[in-house]
Amino acid sequence: ADGQPQPDCLFCKIVAGEIPATVVRETDLTLAFKDINPQAPVHDLIVPRAHYANAAELAFGAPELAAAVLLEAREVAKTEGIADGGYRVVFNTDAHAGQTVFHVHAHVLGGDFLAHFGT
Ligand code: 5GP
Ligand code: ZN
Repeated sequence: ADGQPQPDCLFCKIVAGEIPATVVRETDLTLAFKDINPQAPVHDLIVPRAHYANAAELAFGAPELAAAVLLEAREVAKTEGIADGGYRVVFNTDAHAGQTVFHVHAHVLGGDFLAHFGT
């Protein structure tokens, strides 16, 4: 978990420009792009350019980069015009959460009322 690119990682390939994506915002440290299968009117993904498998590895291995991803969620929400109404930030982490791409990504969802869970 040292952040090095992984050869078979889909999101490393998107970061490298080897696979196209609809980019919403980019910074030195992060890339934000549209989810290919949106679950809300706005559904973007934010990845650190560096490869970490999930949110736990990112937070442990590069806490400042984890903070940069969270800060970028705020900027993406403003860019997408959903900051005022409210939005959800999700990190699916490993098998029970159904994580399918093992390069950490924050989902940013909004644009309408989202189904609530919990209390
Ligand atoms: P998770 O791993 O958190 O379950 O979600 C992975 C997300 O990546 C899914 O929401 C899926 O739609 C999205 N995704 C998978 N492949 C691609 C792709 O090639 N391009 C983009 N833009 N999104 C993708
Ligand atoms: Zn990767």
